[in-house]
Amino acid sequence: MNNSSKTSGSNAASAAPSNFIRTLIAYDLENGKHGGRVHTRFPPEPNGYLHIGHAKSICLNFTVAAENNGYCNLRFDDTNPAKESQEFVDSIKDNIKWLGFSWHGEVRYSSNYFETLYDFAVQLIDSGKAYVCSLSAEEAREYRGTLTEAGRNSPDRGRSVGDNLDLFARMRAGEFADGAYSVRAKIDMASPNMNMRDPVLYRIRHVTHHQTGDKWCIYPTYDYTHCISDAIEGITHSLCTLEFEDHRPLYDWILQDLEIEAIRAASVLANSPEKYVLPEQTEFAKLKLNYTMMGKRNLKTMVEEGVVSGWDDPRMPTIAGMRRRGFTPASIRNFCESVGVSRSEGVVDLGMLEHAIRDDLDKHAPRAMCVMNPLRVVIGNIAAGEIQQLDMASHPKDESLGRRSVPFTREIVIDRADFESDPPAGFKRLIPGGEVRLRGCYVIKCNEVVTDSDGEVIALHCSADLDTLGKKPEGRKVKGVIHWVSASEGKPVSIRLYDRLFTVENPESKQIEDYRSCLNPDSLIEIAGGLIEPAAITGEHQRFQFEREGYFCLDELDSSPDNPVFNRTITLRDSWAK
Ligand code: ATP
Ligand code: MG
Repeated sequence: MNNSSKTSGSNAASAAPSNFIRTLIAYDLENGKHGGRVHTRFPPEPNGYLHIGHAKSICLNFTVAAENNGYCNLRFDDTNPAKESQEFVDSIKDNIKWLGFSWHGEVRYSSNYFETLYDFAVQLIDSGKAYVCSLSAEEAREYRGTLTEAGRNSPDRGRSVGDNLDLFARMRAGEFADGAYSVRAKIDMASPNMNMRDPVLYRIRHVTHHQTGDKWCIYPTYDYTHCISDAIEGITHSLCTLEFEDHRPLYDWILQDLEIEAIRAASVLANSPEKYVLPEQTEFAKLKLNYTMMGKRNLKTMVEEGVVSGWDDPRMPTIAGMRRRGFTPASIRNFCESVGVSRSEGVVDLGMLEHAIRDDLDKHAPRAMCVMNPLRVVIGNIAAGEIQQLDMASHPKDESLGRRSVPFTREIVIDRADFESDPPAGFKRLIPGGEVRLRGCYVIKCNEVVTDSDGEVIALHCSADLDTLGKKPEGRKVKGVIHWVSASEGKPVSIRLYDRLFTVENPESKQIEDYRSCLNPDSLIEIAGGLIEPAAITGEHQRFQFEREGYFCLDELDSSPDNPVFNRTITLRDSWAK
């Protein structure tokens, strides 16, 4: 795809607020550091679905590239095949496109570079900077020392270059079992930075890889792979989250201990006259959200334990889940921009994300009427069989959303909650003998309440004041306005009321023994038997504000024209605010 086009991001280059990364890039450009180039990458590991935290990284990488006429690559960091799969690769590509971003050129994989990575490891061994080690994982851990105690050298540290090269070739050839040997960088077993204590560069893993099949039985580690992949792709700014800060010395060590000309020759800039400068890693704080579990491992547990219906359950903080829930790409991008980028870890209130979607839908979602819990109302002065098509604006402010026709008939439904036989003080909706305005329609009066043998209200007999269409009633005030749907012309719908999945601020806290104990029992309430105005399911729109109820969208998977299913994206107002 778009090999030649510059990275695009729909909200790029707007008057975005500054942050330390934008400042750093501007500084590097001013100083001609990378020959005026800005090239970033988003490097997901395909071991799960993307979540809202990844969206922050995606937005950052794609927008800073676009703002500076640069490029952003998509590179799958696929060095741990046992946990990865094509399903995850596909969902990640799909999510990035849906968010509105296009990566530069082809999708890349770290596994594209396995041959080069192998050659570079040979170079490191050749120059005495790496060796083959036969310590078992457990022994290696013991030799590694602790934060307060230096490690000890591996007994294999002094093995000759010739023997190391021979063993490495035989590792590749599949002569040894998993764990029999590893390749380690020869750095410093006494370094205060544990990552520098002869870190592993290669391990033996006899597993099939989703991209390279059975070609390899040795796989490079993340640390060894990431810096070299960045260098090969001509990345200038390698942006990652703070937990990699302590890995930066290793990132630099590996690149500096290879021949820069060899790296350049293996890179996309091999034949370019442009200046070649090694990539630099810069860390920023992860996005954390309260009331949310975000780590991929935790999300996976929820999927596997059936607490949610899948990675795309509308309660999941995954892009796929949020999309099904009804979030728009713009609302997610706006949210990511509004939380900012910094180096200090903080927890963002989920209310901010909810605000972003409410704000977007309020502006752009057409209105519709849906009665979830219907009570039959018979309007005595409307003839049976008569249908009045009432013309209503789809949106109170945005005329570009057009108009719709809402059928009004003798029998309608209103929500049970909008009628009270025995109203509390201040109740402004329908009461026996009282009047209420039907939204966009007439004022009606309740003349008779029909109950069943248990005293349960089953219908209301009303009359309409036919002089009140678009006009105030004569000589009296009618305060309440309620929504309604024609009983005969309305369409049946299923509704899923989604709410926050957790009742506690930090469900990932170590204090919580079982996350299941803090699940919100009301995170999903399913409602059958609702009725909706026909235009909402015959038109082209997917997302609506249901008048007085909240924002809803048609479920992408379970909805069909005969059986519409609407998910509640978000309530009209924040009911969680303290
Ligand atoms: P998790 O911690 O949820 O398992 P991860 O960091 O292992 O995620 P990767 O696929 O390795 O997931 O991440 C791809 C990119 O997204 C990395 O650059 C990573 O730093 C970034 N990223 C991951 N989580 C967040 C987050 N919460 N906020 C911002 N960026 C994130
Ligand atoms: Mg990871």
